[in-house]
Parts: sequence; structure tokens; C-alpha cells
Amino acid sequence: MALPRIKHYLINEKYDDPGIVIEIETLGEYILFDVGNIHRLDRHLLRKINKIFITHTHMDHFIGFDYLLRNKLGKPHTVDIFGISPLAENIYCKLQGYTWNLVEFEPQIIFNLKQWNEGLFEYYSFDIKKKFAKDFIKEEKADTDVIYENQFYRVRYAILDHKIWIMGYSFEYKDRLLFKKDKIKELSLKGEEFGILKKWLEDESNRGKTFPVGEKNLSYEFLKEEYTYIQKGIKISYITDVLYSKENKEKIINLVKESDVLYCEAPFLEEDEEQASKVYHLTSKQAAEIAKEANVKKLIVFHFSRRYGKNTEKILEEVRKYFPNTE
Ligand SMILES: [Zn+2]
Ligand SMILES: [Zn+2]
Repeated sequence: MALPRIKHYLINEKYDDPGIVIEIETLGEYILFDVGNIHRLDRHLLRKINKIFITHTHMDHFIGFDYLLRNKLGKPHTVDIFGISPLAENIYCKLQGYTWNLVEFEPQIIFNLKQWNEGLFEYYSFDIKKKFAKDFIKEEKADTDVIYENQFYRVRYAILDHKIWIMGYSFEYKDRLLFKKDKIKELSLKGEEFGILKKWLEDESNRGKTFPVGEKNLSYEFLKEEYTYIQKGIKISYITDVLYSKENKEKIINLVKESDVLYCEAPFLEEDEEQASKVYHLTSKQAAEIAKEANVKKLIVFHFSRRYGKNTEKILEEVRKYFPNTE
């Protein structure tokens, strides 16, 4: 069972600005979750970023937007951004912080935004050719917890309390049905017939039916067993800047349950629980409890408070007391 080749990692050290990268080279998809200080990222990678999911726009999660834009200039780019209101206003104000009088000579850069706002999804577009005017495109009822989906993966969200409403995210790369490369040659199929057979096998309602291959009719079960395998998907969740309340905890667990990897903030030690709740953040123990109750396989903690210096072991050790498989 080969796993999809997906690279994911923290942008910074655990005590620096939060954020993760997900790279799916085979799809040409390069995704950021939060865009705080991103100077550590390679410029080639920044040019490839085509999706950004933003939890909220406190400075440590959004200050890198300018640097990303700087690296996008000079080549045509479209970047899809997702988040929660007032993100449209925040992006607009950032873009209007510069002068765009020479843009007729610049390649086109477009930021498409989809933001949750009071039960609606609102769509905006910011086009360099229009000096990044804030173009409202449309709105629709937000009657799903999926904010983005394509053939290969989806991203779900939960709206969480950080004294403002913020987004938690879960990236779910779907299970895929693939042909066993050497075996499939045995079937005398050509060209688009492979695609047709694959679609047919992906549709479970074809159980018990047969598919014509040359002279023969082969059964759904036989074809699936002999010629295909399942590439298991992966679930990667990203939770940061949240109060440890009953409501938040329930929403987070519902979103991140069974994750292969949960990236979760753990800014404070257990002994500083009072301070943590005052500033709407989690402690080490609370992060571990969420991971345990959500039955995630692996926990990666970050967003450590600078009050403990740059020694990350102290918090890590404490998290591991309650959830051993922690990095
Ligand atoms: Zn915050
Ligand atoms: Zn933060």
C-alpha cells in the first residue's frame, strides 16, 4: 500500500511564527497553512505556492503575505486563499499599502479569496491588472464543513473561539484506486479504456456486475482484486490559537479525529494554564488531551511561548507525558 508522496512540515522553529507547508509535487499543489514569517522558505517554493488557508490574521499568522506577494511579482500567478471574515478586508488593506501605477507591464497576478462570514461563503478576487481592487464575485450559503475540494483531496474547517472567530483546518487526501502496473498489461485494453475501467471500478454500485475485456466478461470483484490496489490517503490537521473550552474541544475533536498527523499549538506549560486561558491559547497537557481523545496517530506541537526561551524540550517533555507520540 504505497502512500501518496506528500511532504508536510512546520515553516519555522517551534517558538517562531506558526504555519505549515503541504507539498504535493505530483499534482503541482503547494499549500500554506498560515502565512506568518515565511523568510525561511525557499524562494522557489514561494513562487509555487498556489493555495493558502489562513486561521486568522493576528500578525504572527499573516505578516508574511507581503513577502509572498514580493516573490510572486514578475511571473503570472493565481493563488487561492481561504479563511474567515474580515480576511477580505485584511488582504485588500495590505494590497492597497503599495502603489501599483506601473502594473500594465507586469504579468497578471490574481488572488482569489473564499471566506466564511456569518454562515455564508463570500468570494472575492484581487487582480493586479485592476490595481488589486476588491472585486466581490458571489456569495453562497455555507452549508458544508468543506471549504475546498478537488478530485484528490478536501480541506474541512471548524470555526473556533480565540476571542475572535478563527478557522481550524483538516487536509484529507483521499484513498485512491490504482492499477497494478505490471498486472494490468495482461488485459488487452488500450488508451482511454483504462480510464473507463477505473471509473467503473471506483463506482461501488457495480458490485456483482461484469465488464467486457476482449472476448470475456470479467467480474467487478475479480478485476478489483487482481488488477488494482488502494493507495491509502492521509489526514493532516492544523489547529492553532484556541481557547480550551468545552465547545472548542468538541469542535476540534470532531474535525481532527483519526488524523495521521495533528499539528497543534502548545504555547504554555501546564503550570501556566491560567495565563493560557487568559490569552485564549492551549497548554501542553490540553494539546495532548485533544490528540488522545481524537485518536490521532502523531502529534506535532508548535507556537511555543517565548517566555520559556528557545529550549523546546521543556514543553515537549510535558506533552509526551500525556501523549507519547509527539514531536
Ligand atoms: Zn492569534
Ligand atoms: Zn498566534
